Amino acid sequence: MGYAFYVLPDGREAGYGVVADCDHPGCSERINRGLGYLCGENPDGHRDPEEPGCGKYFCEQHRAAHECPNPACGVYSDDERLCCGLAKGHVLPHNDPIEELTFGPTA
Ligand SMILES: [Zn+2]
Ligand SMILES: [Zn+2]
Ligand SMILES: [Zn+2]
Repeated sequence: MGYAFYVLPDGREAGYGVVADCDHPGCSERINRGLGYLCGENPDGHRDPEEPGCGKYFCEQHRAAHECPNPACGVYSDDERLCCGLAKGHVLPHNDPIEELTFGPTA
């Protein structure tokens, strides 16, 4: 899911239809500005102090290694499937989206 083209509030063009270079300095890997290459969950999420991600777009190699100024919390669930979806250093309790999804009566 996503949009092929849109303009972010800061004027950058984004969407999976927008071809661009990786935002890492010196890297010219061709990517697109779809959510799959975004650092963060939401293109504008970097404005929210509780949301991880710097809002830049990186190739596969640099998405995990770009000295992000706003990394995710990095706390994993007991099953180590999902990390806390909040920014590192957040003040709210750790967030575990899986727990919410699977919450309900047990079989
Ligand atoms: Zn790159
Ligand atoms: Zn980042
Ligand atoms: Zn956390």
